[in-house]
Amino acid sequence: MSDNKLHPETLAIRGAKSQTEYREHNQAVFLTSSFMFDDAAQGAALFAKEIEGFTYSRTANPTVAAFEQRIACLEGAEKGVAVATGMAAIQAALLTFLKAGDHLVAGQSLFGTTAGFINGIVSKFGIEITLVPQTDLAAWKAAVKENTKMLFVETPSNPLSEIADIQALADIAHSVGALLAVDNSFCSPAIQQPLKFGADLAVESATKAIDGQGRVLGGVVCGRADLIKEIAMYVNSSGLALSPFSAWVLLSGVETLFVRMERQSANALQVAQWLRGHERVKAVYYAGFDDHPQADLVRKQQVSGGIVIGFEVAGGKEAAWKVIDTLKLFSKTANLGDVRSTITHPWTTTHGRMTPEAKEAVGIEAGLLRLSIGLENVQDLIADLQQALA
Ligand SMILES: *Cc1c(COP(=O)(O)O)cnc(C)c1O
Repeated sequence: MSDNKLHPETLAIRGAKSQTEYREHNQAVFLTSSFMFDDAAQGAALFAKEIEGFTYSRTANPTVAAFEQRIACLEGAEKGVAVATGMAAIQAALLTFLKAGDHLVAGQSLFGTTAGFINGIVSKFGIEITLVPQTDLAAWKAAVKENTKMLFVETPSNPLSEIADIQALADIAHSVGALLAVDNSFCSPAIQQPLKFGADLAVESATKAIDGQGRVLGGVVCGRADLIKEIAMYVNSSGLALSPFSAWVLLSGVETLFVRMERQSANALQVAQWLRGHERVKAVYYAGFDDHPQADLVRKQQVSGGIVIGFEVAGGKEAAWKVIDTLKLFSKTANLGDVRSTITHPWTTTHGRMTPEAKEAVGIEAGLLRLSIGLENVQDLIADLQQALA
């Protein structure tokens, strides 16, 4: 049966396995930096790309290739390229296609390190940058011009769950011959597949939901074969390669991705609904609410509301820190997508480098907290929040 007739849940487990002569059941891990040639002529043919095969793990490795192909199946992409971190994936997606004199348009509500990378590093290469509000399509339309080569967006946004309209942004990008890249770290391909709505590249941190157990770092970019081929050349030259060991760990994460995301999203919806009814909670931001301002778009693009909740407590930073320090079950850590529920204070961590005015401009208040909901029993999570908010 051809791989693309199988359902995603099946592909997450059985897609793109590479099989050796030893008939191992699980994917083998090839911890080797290089591969041997039978003779000098074969070495020459491999390097000239006259025959296919592995030469050196910075360029390609069977375990990494299995991971790339498995995520590509799930994203509905022709090809994928895996790299060492989510940031490496973003770097490769942007710098493969942007050069001096080009213009990049990006959403304003970006993961802090991504914002730092675009403003602090991409800008140094003579690439013009315009940041626009996530949900303001007129602003995106007004921002693109002749030299715009890429649109970059993250949806849902962190931690306020603002939804970008992927199809509309793809149309705007394509109207000027630019590419649309979507950071899909928050959802993972189990919840959202940006390419289905016209995005050219799905970029993600595999460190988050794909691993799901907080073990290794990784990143992946998926898209059309011609685009991924170019990115793979950038990755090879700049040395962003993923470790085969990490690829092997991530492959075991992918196997349980769908069940984890389904249960974690269901838990998140219950927690979000409970938080909404609490007197000390001023606002709750969750993409899965029926009355989310962009509920129709969520239903179109996402299988569920996802696993991340933002909520604001009355009393500012002091009250927010008290909640964190009183919680017993939630891990105080910045990771998300983990089977363990986590809590962070965006104002002083993920968005800590922004000025107070800049934070408020994008809706990050001092009393705002971010939860990533895990696989614990949801009643235990609610009880923990209840005693912390009391
Ligand atoms: C974590 C994260 C990244 C960066 O990924 P790393 O694996 O930590 O480099 C990028 N985008 C989003 C939305 C993230 O949550």
